Amino acid sequence: MTTKRQFFEVDYYYCPRCKNELKFKLIDGKKRLHCQRCDFIFYNNPKPVVSGLLIKNKEVLLIKRNDKKASFYGYWSLPGGILEIDEEPKKGLEREFAEETGIAVRAGKIINGYLIKHYQTGRQSYASVDIVFEVGAKKIYLNKFNQKEVSKIDFFSIKNLPKKIAFGHKKIIINYLNKL
Ligand SMILES: [Zn+2]
Repeated sequence: MTTKRQFFEVDYYYCPRCKNELKFKLIDGKKRLHCQRCDFIFYNNPKPVVSGLLIKNKEVLLIKRNDKKASFYGYWSLPGGILEIDEEPKKGLEREFAEETGIAVRAGKIINGYLIKHYQTGRQSYASVDIVFEVGAKKIYLNKFNQKEVSKIDFFSIKNLPKKIAFGHKKIIINYLNKL
């Protein structure tokens, strides 16, 4: 079965298990890359992403993205990142939030969960499912962020949100701040 490869499949030609060539096969109602030799199926699922909403005086904390090899360089976003294979979402968010901002947080309730259809990074393309949590912090610093990943962090009110906000976070932020 030949099918035009989609953006996220272009780099995958060989079976990661046995090195045989991958070919498209209709499996569970979708054409998927499949290995005829060892029966490996490339299930192309969205990556699980977690993001955190930290609010102070009705303002939201955003980070300015500073990694040229990552997606949305120069854009603002909620702090967060991709879960590891063995990581609970809340724990993953607390880890990513602290890594990026230098602020220790506790993840609270889930605000939203949605598909981010696809985006290109320097290395590869993704689709992801973003789970957005409320977070709380005992102490907030604006000067302990990770300078490799982040160039600035700051609080923004609904009236002065930056124009360039990544991952569809703008809609979620506006909805949330409007209800405060
Ligand atoms: Zn194989």
